[in-house]
Amino acid sequence: MRQLTDGVWQLSGRPANNVNIYLLGDVLIDAGMIFDKGRILAQVANHAVTAHALTHGHIDHYGASHAVCTELGIPLWCGAADREAVESGKMVTRYPPGKLPAAPAHPVARSLAEGDTVADFTVLDTPGHSPGHVSFWRESDRTLVCGDVMFGYNPFLLSGGIREPIRAFSVDPERNRESARRIAALEPELTCFGHGPPLHGPDALRAAVDALR
Ligand SMILES: [Zn+2]
Repeated sequence: MRQLTDGVWQLSGRPANNVNIYLLGDVLIDAGMIFDKGRILAQVANHAVTAHALTHGHIDHYGASHAVCTELGIPLWCGAADREAVESGKMVTRYPPGKLPAAPAHPVARSLAEGDTVADFTVLDTPGHSPGHVSFWRESDRTLVCGDVMFGYNPFLLSGGIREPIRAFSVDPERNRESARRIAALEPELTCFGHGPPLHGPDALRAAVDALR
């Protein structure tokens, strides 16, 4: 686990930066795939964790949520419109139903909505990739955790620059572009993606979003 800025840590993984999990203060953000339970528990062992929040209810973000919440005895929080998917162990995409594997279901203790506070971050509703996708924004130092509103690179090639997420996995790609324009307009100094390395400065994100056609 490495510290990115005040109160923000990124968990280590292999390949690095590929399926990202963060700690904001004492709140674990996302939980990777089902097999990521071990790396999460090992890395947060010496760190207080009191809650677990999701950017969205896709299987590469809440795969290990059930195991981690159960093991640590902490509540699970997610965007209101993703609650049903997480509590039933499914995920909402445009991809034909039944073709994607599910993640273990877990009850959601708190539905997140625009303006809520998580650690010292503000919840932003950023729907499109999933119906209840949220981002976490700290105005004081312009730090953003944006989940899959944008990818930091191509997660299969581990390179290639900032891009929109795979359209077949976005329930509403046009709505996601609205969310992408919103986060770019924040001009974050640090952007923490669901997939891809942390980005410093607002310019590359702005350019990638401006290039979406
Ligand atoms: Zn993802």
